[in-house]
Amino acid sequence: MAGTIRKCMLLCCSAKVSKEEDMARDSYEEAIAGLAKLLSEKEHLEEVAAAKIKQITAELESAGSKHFDPVERIKTGFNHFKTQKYEKNPDLYGALAQGQSPKFLVFACSDSRVCPSHILDFQPGEAFSVRNIANMVPPYDRTKYSGVGAAIEYAVLHLKVEHIVVIGHSCCGGIKGLMSIPDDGATSSDFIEQWVQICSPAKNKVKTEYSDLSFSEQCTNCEKEAVNVSLGNLLTYPFVREGLVKKTLALKGAHYNFVNGTFELWDLDFKIAPSLSA
Ligand SMILES: [Zn+2]
Repeated sequence: MAGTIRKCMLLCCSAKVSKEEDMARDSYEEAIAGLAKLLSEKEHLEEVAAAKIKQITAELESAGSKHFDPVERIKTGFNHFKTQKYEKNPDLYGALAQGQSPKFLVFACSDSRVCPSHILDFQPGEAFSVRNIANMVPPYDRTKYSGVGAAIEYAVLHLKVEHIVVIGHSCCGGIKGLMSIPDDGATSSDFIEQWVQICSPAKNKVKTEYSDLSFSEQCTNCEKEAVNVSLGNLLTYPFVREGLVKKTLALKGAHYNFVNGTFELWDLDFKIAPSLSA
């Protein structure tokens, strides 16, 4: 029994904890230490203690499973949306029932912290969105990246969006993954590394130009450079080039830093050569 308690304490000490957790841990450790002391003085209580601990463990397990009910969460979320937004804006939702004409096509990372509707307050109907690992735009390729190609084609040719915005973000796991691919190119994932290598030119640029920076600073630079690679890749789509030449379409890069709460926005700085015009 005492062995089990020591194990619990070790596990507890190895966790990284905040101040509140520190306090909780202190009282937890006090309680465990008190129990250990009691049991060392009164060994005959071990059996009773074991039974009680089993009971507490079962209770905690069941409390843990009741803690999150996904169906309830979804129902509550939709109910909130319906009563607070949908039913309060009949004009907006009535118009959207007829169709959409968003001004923006937005590329954002799948990361749960960077939803463009939240961080830019886009309302339904304002932004046609593509979200994927590390907000990447692959080059035009009808066989490999048709999902992204279809979204761009639909947004540009059918919805006639006026702006394409590619939004990178701080602490991007996809970019970190790209920056971590060894020089020999060895990969171990089924999809992730192959996907993020779309922005290998950004990695190469950062490794060359910012070799004196720490890995984390290199990743931050790569988050922004990868956005520029994606903007460049957008130029490989003939309907995007045509929109740029006719000035019905503009491209923008952005970087959202959720650590500092800042948002940078920049224009595409490419000269479109006449030979590229459609
Ligand atoms: Zn990301």
